[in-house]
Amino acid sequence: SFTLAIVGRPNVGKSTLFNRLVGRRLALVDDQPGVTRDLREGDARLGHLRFTVIDTAGLEEATDESLQGRMRALTERAVSMADVCLFLIDARAGLTPSDKVFAEILRRSGKMVIVAANKAEGRAGEAGYLDAYSLGLGDVIPLSAEHGEGMDDLRMILSPVAEQFAVTDVEEHEDDSDRPMQIAILGRPNAGKSTLVNAILGEERLLTGPEAGITRDSIAVTTEWYGTKVRIFDTAGIRKKARIQEKLEKMSVSDGLRAVRFAEVVVLLLDVNSPFDQQDLRLADLAEREGRAVVVAVNKWDTEDDKSEKVKFLREELARLLPQLRGVPLVTISALQGRGLDKLRDAIVKVHETWNTRISTSRLNRWLIGQVEAHPPPAPSGRRIKLRYMTQVKARPPSFVAFCSLPEELPESYIRFLVNGLRKTFGLEGTPIRFTLRKGE
Ligand code: GDP
Repeated sequence: SFTLAIVGRPNVGKSTLFNRLVGRRLALVDDQPGVTRDLREGDARLGHLRFTVIDTAGLEEATDESLQGRMRALTERAVSMADVCLFLIDARAGLTPSDKVFAEILRRSGKMVIVAANKAEGRAGEAGYLDAYSLGLGDVIPLSAEHGEGMDDLRMILSPVAEQFAVTDVEEHEDDSDRPMQIAILGRPNAGKSTLVNAILGEERLLTGPEAGITRDSIAVTTEWYGTKVRIFDTAGIRKKARIQEKLEKMSVSDGLRAVRFAEVVVLLLDVNSPFDQQDLRLADLAEREGRAVVVAVNKWDTEDDKSEKVKFLREELARLLPQLRGVPLVTISALQGRGLDKLRDAIVKVHETWNTRISTSRLNRWLIGQVEAHPPPAPSGRRIKLRYMTQVKARPPSFVAFCSLPEELPESYIRFLVNGLRKTFGLEGTPIRFTLRKGE
C-alpha cells in the first residue's frame, strides 16, 4: 500500500479531509519511530482503496511566530515519509504567498503531487480553483472536504497510484539467501543504462529472457553476475516512449520512484562528459530519501583522457553536491567496452551488505555511553538532557531509535554527531541511516 501526505498552509482544511478519509480509524502515533508528535497518521478508506494518510495539521492551533518554520519542517518530514502528496489550497481564498512556499517544497521533493482546491462547493471557489493551475503542478481537483464533494475524483486519481505501489515494494524477507539482489540502474537518458544492462546480461539475456515486468511498462531481468544472483530493473525502455519534453520530465520522476522502490541497491549512472546534472542530483536524492543503498558509477570512461585528474574532480564533486550520500562508492566504468564491471559488482555487493547491517543492542549501548561521556549533550535550556539507551529497530537501511529525556531540546547538530559516529564505528559507509529520538529515560 502507499502513504499519502496532506500538505498545505494552516486552515485550508487538512484536518477535515483527514477526518473524512480516516473516519474513526485514527491511530495516534506519538511514540512510533520516525513520527513526531505533530504528525497524525491514520488508515484511510476511499471507495475500495486503502492507504495510510499523514496529516500535518497538528500545528494548526499554534500561534507563535515560529509557526512558519515549524510548519515547514513538519511538512518536509511528512513529504519525505510519503509516496504521494496531496497539496491542498483554499479555493475561496485563492493562492497566497504561503501556498507558493509549500508548492516549492513539494516541487523540490520530486514526489508525486496531486493538487486539490478545497472549499470548492458552490461557485465561490471557481477563481481560486483556476488560480491553482498557475502553480504548475498539474491538474487541480476541486474538493469540498466538509461536504464530501470531489471524493470520487480523488479516488480516480489515486487508483493507479495504489496499483503501482502494491506491486513494487521491496519484499521484506531477509534470510532468503537465494533471492536475487534487486538493483535499479538510474540515470539520465543516454547515460548508458541500456548498454550497461546488456553488458551485465551478456549472453545470459537469451537464457533468462525478460520477465514480464513489475508493471506494464517496465521490465526486470534476473541473471547471474560474477556468481551473484541479481535482478535488474530496466527503466530505459520507458523513457524512450515519452515524446514531448514535459511528459519526459513527469515520467522520469515517477519512473525513477518506481525503480527506487523496487531496488535494494540503486546504481546512479553518470555520463563522464556531463556528470552531476540536475536530474542526476534529483535521482540521488530520491534514492537517499527512500533509504536505498547507492553506488555511483561514472560511465563512458573510455572517452576520458585525463583519468587521474578526473577521478579526483569527481570525488570532490560527489562530496560537494551530494553530502547526503557521504561515503558511497564511486566507480568508473565503460559499459560499451565492458570495463570496470567487476569493480562495480564488488561495490554493489559491499553496500548491499552494509545496508543489511544489524548491530546488537549491547554493542550500541556500550558505544552510546562512551559517546555521551566523551561529549555530553549540550543543555540549551539549562536542563540536563539524558540520553541513555538505543537500539536498532530495523535494517535495510539501518534504523536506530534512541531514548532521550528531552528529545525536543536535543540539537540537530548532536544527532548528526551521533550518526557520523555510528558510521565510523560500525562501518556504515554508503548507506542511508535513519535515526529517531523517543522520549524516555
Ligand atoms: P540510456 O538512455 O541510458 O539507456 O543510454 P544508452 O545505453 O542507449 O546509451 C546512449 C549512448 O551512449 C549510445 O550511443 C551508447 O553506445 C553510448 N554509450 C553507452 N555506454 C558507453 C560507454 O561506456 N562508452 C562510450 N564511449 N559510449 C557509451
